[in-house]
Amino acid sequence: MKRVETLTDLELALPIDGQIGFIPTMGALHDGHLSLVAKAKKEKMFAVASIFVNPTQFNDPKDFQKYPRDTEADIAKLNSAGCDLVFLPHEDEIYNEGLTADKYLHDFGFLESRLEGAFRPDHFKGVAQIVHILLEAVAPDYAFFGEKDFQQLQVIRALVKKASLNVEVIGMPTIREPDGLAMSSRNRRLSDDARAESPALYQCLSHAKTHLSNKGIEAIKTEVKNMIEATDTLRLEYFDMVDPDTFESVTDSHPKHNVRALIAAYAGDVRLIDNLKLA
Ligand code: AMP
Repeated sequence: MKRVETLTDLELALPIDGQIGFIPTMGALHDGHLSLVAKAKKEKMFAVASIFVNPTQFNDPKDFQKYPRDTEADIAKLNSAGCDLVFLPHEDEIYNEGLTADKYLHDFGFLESRLEGAFRPDHFKGVAQIVHILLEAVAPDYAFFGEKDFQQLQVIRALVKKASLNVEVIGMPTIREPDGLAMSSRNRRLSDDARAESPALYQCLSHAKTHLSNKGIEAIKTEVKNMIEATDTLRLEYFDMVDPDTFESVTDSHPKHNVRALIAAYAGDVRLIDNLKLA
């Protein structure tokens, strides 16, 4: 696997022929990230991963500082997964070379202001900014993103349309621990007590999926709230059921199509998110 750190070296290392599959990450890699690399390799693409903890998407500077970083272990994992090239950009090049231009700051309206956007102001502006910059630099044919960050996936799809980027966005299923907890770089910061209770997020989503058609939206919302309140370490930020394309809350009490549930909760001082297609 080749390793590059500057835009010039990146350009030199990219292949001229064949298809490029791109996997942007913030590092502290786990099997969720590696499943995206595996998909690119399965499709016989030249797999490019980037590792960059992007400061502009953290509204809380403490969260940015505490974000786990483990570059050498990440590189070993990418290498074993068959990744062809890893790009480790430096903040001063990414954000000091005219790349902070308005061109990279997009307005996603409702999509960026709901749920995650409401609790993390300007988070998706920062995400779209870095992803736009990286997509221009890598110029991939395909870019792989996890459904784990479902609202982000929809923002990226909107970005590609808005900026007319010549890339196909592929959304990939969430990889979970055996007890249902969605894999996340943040999981390594969970205390033992919080880790033990954190599968409750997925249990809430599964409960909603099983019971939506018979109990309806309002009862599910109340039950999920109660399920989280019954724990010692979890504190609910939001749980909602939305149309996956518009992110409008579902108003029909017994909806049959187009419903995705999204949840965010603190487990101790670690913020976790998850989501599931219900119908
Ligand atoms: P991150 O490093 O958290 O920015 O994630 C990089 C990419 O990996 C994003 O597209 C995420 O949605 C994806 N990802 C993170 N966790 C998982 C998971 N458990 N399963 C599948 N994809 C994931």
